[in-house]
Amino acid sequence: MVINVKKIRTRFAPSPTGFMHLGNLRTALYAWLFARKNGGSFILRVEDTDRSRYVEGAVDVIYETLRECGLDWDEGPDIGGDYGPYIQSERKDSYLKYAEELLKKGDAYRDDGAIRQRVPKNGSTGFVDEIYGEITVENAEIEEQVLIKSDGMPTYNFANVIDDHLMNITHIIRGNEYLSSTPKYNLLYKSFGWECPTYIHVPQIMRDATHKLSKRDGDAYFSDFKAQGYLTPAIINYIALLGWSPKGENAENEIFTLSELAKAFGTEGVSKSPAIFDIEKMRAINAEHIRRLSSSEFKAAAMPFLPQTDCEYNRDILCAALQPRTEVLSDIVAQVDFLEKPCEYSLDLYNNKKMKTSPESAAETLAKLLNILETIPVFDKESLYEQVKELAAKNEKKPGFFLYPLQVALSGKPAVPGGGLDVCVMFGREESVKRVKAAIEII
Ligand code: GLU
Repeated sequence: MVINVKKIRTRFAPSPTGFMHLGNLRTALYAWLFARKNGGSFILRVEDTDRSRYVEGAVDVIYETLRECGLDWDEGPDIGGDYGPYIQSERKDSYLKYAEELLKKGDAYRDDGAIRQRVPKNGSTGFVDEIYGEITVENAEIEEQVLIKSDGMPTYNFANVIDDHLMNITHIIRGNEYLSSTPKYNLLYKSFGWECPTYIHVPQIMRDATHKLSKRDGDAYFSDFKAQGYLTPAIINYIALLGWSPKGENAENEIFTLSELAKAFGTEGVSKSPAIFDIEKMRAINAEHIRRLSSSEFKAAAMPFLPQTDCEYNRDILCAALQPRTEVLSDIVAQVDFLEKPCEYSLDLYNNKKMKTSPESAAETLAKLLNILETIPVFDKESLYEQVKELAAKNEKKPGFFLYPLQVALSGKPAVPGGGLDVCVMFGREESVKRVKAAIEII
């Protein structure tokens, strides 16, 4: 028996506003995951019929963000496809005839040069949403929306329905702010006698129980998170979990790559309740993605956060020390503020109870260390550590008694990525000697 199963087609239908809100990106992600998981097609359609909101360059932001995130599309404005064009303003002449068909059927009427949808006065209209179940609205509550404006342009609401049908979209995945508009869309499908798509409305991303994550919070856009040093795969991983949780064998898992998500995703894991944005969790997920980078990947990612300095330092050593200590790349900035020159510090910094050090003891230990730094044949961490250990043993002290003052002398900080010796080999002999000599002078 041949079962004629319709090929699954999902779409992302952004209005070009110039920025990619995390909520929109998550909608795109779910539509992409659903298509990929089910061997379907993912279509990109730009909904730009509202020319007053048009922003120059906004379509490029959409392309760039989706590409950067790995959400490739099978049909779209730039690559075409069998159902093009994929930009609504380029389709504007195709909507009128559908509005006229509704006029003929009596399901639309002219009003001040515009064409409006006619909604029955009585009865109710319902539809079944995959996530929210059956939703029914009294017809009396449905507005008779404008379909074609007096200037001939379709409204977003009309073009959206016509295009979803003409492009054979089988599953409509979008934010639940569209739940209340769906009955009037459904009335249009019914008037035309078209088969309704499957609706999958997903919960909105909220800052807290009552507020949406909005641009006023400063962190609502993909670009905001990139600038703060979140890795793209970590952003994708985190937003996938905002409103969806894995089931079955992946139920315990929180760290996913995009291709792992494409295997694990399913609408049974999508939640009805609002997804509360949790920056701490996002940081933790980002930290895990950072730990999983290879050292060269981490170095490349860290580079924009490292300062330009006059003094030489070894970036590989620095990055090896930073990688396990970085949750978000921008954490790097405060950790490397001593690279150009040691931070300003008071001699009190040499007082460390645990290491049993003081400015007086530091004057002595730094002089001994200086001797090692100047004369050690091979300037690497192992050799240095051997000598410091020996020195400590001779003086009946722990290595920290020497290493802590060394770190302060090199950085002017109570803590550095790695330890005193990491910083030492990172700077190399010349710079280390210079900094230790300067520190001795200050004491
Ligand atoms: N253009 C709408 C938006 O940007 C699309 C809504 C939908 O997916 O139907 O929110």
